Amino acid sequence: MKLYIIANRLPVKVQRTEGGGFEFQRSEGGLATGLASLDTHNETHWIGWPGIHTEDPVERAAITEALEKMQFHPVFLNETQILNYYEGYSNNVIWPLCHYFYAYIEYQTLYWESYKEVNELFLEKAESLAVAGDVAWVQDYQLMLLPKLLRERIKGLSIGYFHHIPFPSYELFRVLPERAELLEGLLGADLIAFHTHDYMRHFVSAVERVLLLRFALDRVIVRNRTVHVDALPMGINFDLYHNAILDPLVQEKASVFRENYGGSKLVLSVDRLDYSKGILHRLKGFELFLKENPAYLERVSLVMIVVPSRDRVERYAELKKNIDETIGNINGAYSTMNWTPVYYFYHGLPFEELLALYHIADIALVSPLRDGMNLVAKEYVAAKRDQPGVLILSEMAGAAIELSDAVTINPNDVVQISDALSYALDMSKEEQLDALKRMQAQVSRHSVHLWAKRFMDELMGIRLKNMENDQKRLVGVQAEKIRKAYRKAKSRLFILDYDGTLSAFKNRPEDAKPNAEILDTLIRLTADPMNKVVISSGRDHTTLENWLGHLNLDMAAEHGAFYKEKGVWHKKEGPMVWDAEILSIFQAFIDKTPRSKLEMKETALVWHYRRVDAWLGTMREQQLVEALMEPCSRLNLQIMRGDKIIEVKSPNFTKGSEAKRLLKQAKYDFICAIGDDTTDEDTFRALPKSAITIKVGGVSDQARYYVLMQAETLPLLNFWMDDTSTSD
Ligand code: UDP
Repeated sequence: MKLYIIANRLPVKVQRTEGGGFEFQRSEGGLATGLASLDTHNETHWIGWPGIHTEDPVERAAITEALEKMQFHPVFLNETQILNYYEGYSNNVIWPLCHYFYAYIEYQTLYWESYKEVNELFLEKAESLAVAGDVAWVQDYQLMLLPKLLRERIKGLSIGYFHHIPFPSYELFRVLPERAELLEGLLGADLIAFHTHDYMRHFVSAVERVLLLRFALDRVIVRNRTVHVDALPMGINFDLYHNAILDPLVQEKASVFRENYGGSKLVLSVDRLDYSKGILHRLKGFELFLKENPAYLERVSLVMIVVPSRDRVERYAELKKNIDETIGNINGAYSTMNWTPVYYFYHGLPFEELLALYHIADIALVSPLRDGMNLVAKEYVAAKRDQPGVLILSEMAGAAIELSDAVTINPNDVVQISDALSYALDMSKEEQLDALKRMQAQVSRHSVHLWAKRFMDELMGIRLKNMENDQKRLVGVQAEKIRKAYRKAKSRLFILDYDGTLSAFKNRPEDAKPNAEILDTLIRLTADPMNKVVISSGRDHTTLENWLGHLNLDMAAEHGAFYKEKGVWHKKEGPMVWDAEILSIFQAFIDKTPRSKLEMKETALVWHYRRVDAWLGTMREQQLVEALMEPCSRLNLQIMRGDKIIEVKSPNFTKGSEAKRLLKQAKYDFICAIGDDTTDEDTFRALPKSAITIKVGGVSDQARYYVLMQAETLPLLNFWMDDTSTSD
């Protein structure tokens, strides 16, 4: 088994040398470090853009050859693709959208075209390498279409996806013209993970509303597969940051910096140039702090490191200009001969210098307006080691969920930033060390290694489960085996559910009348005198009689409250006289839940919410059950949860009790039950283990087999009945 990490960028720096060749340097970012620790027996490969532009096939071949020795497989992009796929759709559409900078979206159709094209290029590379049994782990928002493409083209591949940036609320995500394609793209994966449960929640809500799929907790069935989602916050290589100060070079830098900054308390901020980082708000907050706290003038400095990024893009260039100006204004207004309020560095720092700064900084001011995770916050916590220090952290950063001992702020509130600085400066050494210790325990445990391991373990668990489930899927050999058993049997019992099993769901239940295919199949099935066929449905007996009464079969209606045998209907109980309180509860829920409706049967009341908005339906369903609980237990009524229905009925009969009644009547050597609903699981449970129990629509613990969809049911029954030479 090979693991393919597919990311926009390979973790390598490729540079031209003076002699016309190339130089390759691994860049050990957090992701590469975390993945390197996975035990894949050296079978981890990367697929990604090498970050260098060349159209020359000879150069491309030379780069490919060198990179492949490192198990890196380059996907080359031309300048137009870099402009439209990377800077365009990825960074000018998805990035601002996911960071809630809606107004910053610069949309162009050709960006989307290029995004699709490049996702296909990544697919081509993966297709040339990966085979069934391998694992692909797709990284981040530049490749949201890739999981689906991989699924369609590489059979037997396990696919994971991690979204490293925030996933926005549905209300924002819905504005994208390509919202459905992006979500479908992601749903090609077996496991989709986010840094926080909030992003996961937004994703689930977007899928439910845009694609009209329904999640059951953390999973959703998409055609023939179950897709899982989870929140797995990414960590850092804790030991690297924690132990950095033991390195004499870092120690030396730390003491030089300390000396340079004199006796000032140091507030440190480190980010890439980006509007999501809240750099201007931070400067305003610091300025306000200086204004409101004259006692701290000449005693506190802000060291601001801004790593250049995307500054070819106008919006970033403008942000840079604003930052430069704001810093100029603050320093102009407050500097003295002995003191500079803001030290500003517009460039990245070597690792040793960054770590020395982390170690000596009294406060880290991490105040992004939105940030998927924010690793700087975790790095600062680790790098402090046994020194005091305070982390001021934006509540809009994913890291804030784990780092609950930080001083948290709303990064939009400059007064809060200023107040947090005063608060942090007043904190005692013991308080600082206490908070740091707790955060260090958290960060050291939830390292990037554990993050990668947890993701892979989960993906492997899903793969195993999928393999097990494949065994239960009723196709090919399995279906053939059952056909043989069918032929051999002399006395067969069929218990068949109607809606969602024999007939497809319709928006209006009255439209689900049996069509010719259903009738033909049932006529065929009942024509064999060795077959006893029972339609076991939740429907009322009048409808069933109208639709199927002319056929030579038995029926059970309203979950077994009525049953028809030898042409005669029997009633087990009822009709019910509904309590006014129960009726008024149902009425109230219909009134406040658009598109829901009440069905009144002789023996049951059924509230249908199939067409109700997903979120509202789930909430109302729970509220309704809660409201019904007390009166139903008082009146000895059962509340039953079915597929998008809540039913209130007598507890004396279920589909299961009906199945038991049928079993008592005769001996059968072939028993088959098919159903799609939770109520059919009562039937499955009531039957002997040897029975052929088939769940329609996905795997069920109660059923031995499953078919994916209703459309497979009738062909399956016909297949068993077909008389072919291979059947014995
Ligand atoms: N970083 C760096 N050199 C610098 C400043 C920062 O390598 O001069 C690193 C920093 O250590 C951190 C990363 O850049 O690992 C920034 O990650 P973060 O999650 O905070 O923000 P992102 O840039 O991914 O949005």
